[in-house]
Amino acid sequence: MRILIVEDERRLANIIKKGLTEEGFAVDMAYDGEEGQYLVESESYDLVILDVMLPKVDGITICKELRSKNIKIPVIMLTAKSTIEDKIAGLDSGADDYITKPFSFLELRSRIHALIRRSKQEPSPTLIIADLVLDPIKHKVTRSGRKIVLTPKEFSVLEILLHHKDEVVTRTMIIEHVWDYNFDSMSNVVDVFIASLRRKVDKGSKVKLIHTLHGIGYKINENGT
Ligand code: CA
Repeated sequence: MRILIVEDERRLANIIKKGLTEEGFAVDMAYDGEEGQYLVESESYDLVILDVMLPKVDGITICKELRSKNIKIPVIMLTAKSTIEDKIAGLDSGADDYITKPFSFLELRSRIHALIRRSKQEPSPTLIIADLVLDPIKHKVTRSGRKIVLTPKEFSVLEILLHHKDEVVTRTMIIEHVWDYNFDSMSNVVDVFIASLRRKVDKGSKVKLIHTLHGIGYKINENGT
């Protein structure tokens, strides 16, 4: 899951980023409205945390433009003001939720999770291939009923492979969905994560599920073709 934070108060933006990164989210930041608007329209995010009072373009304008372009990305607005009028303006602009500063990280976190669940309309279904089961809600993976302990990034990599079961998943697809904008795509970190996933998922099982297509990417399926 990839989140964009548009917030000119760098200290606050950094605190949010730190917390979300620890939760396994890939997080990008923009410090003014113009940059935020550019990123949200050109990159693919699962959610935007959008401050209202921003240099160059304010949050309400950004949100209105997103909706007018039919970009349906979930938006949580941040504002220093808590008057009813501001709240109405935020929600009228098309934001999905609204949080007033100061807020606790835990409060923001629970709003984010609620919104992500809601934006998927229904709880994400359990992802299954052969005897491998990934439950996105409980954040749990099992193979033949045996629990597999994954780091948040490994979990995200496995999740994208399973979402594209039987299809080729390129390194770029994995990087875009799991890592940040500034990630060095030339590095071999994806291969490292695949190797450790393979160790945890396929080791000891007769049927190998995670396959490498050299120079192309990866595929999860039961027969390796
Ligand atoms: Ca601000």
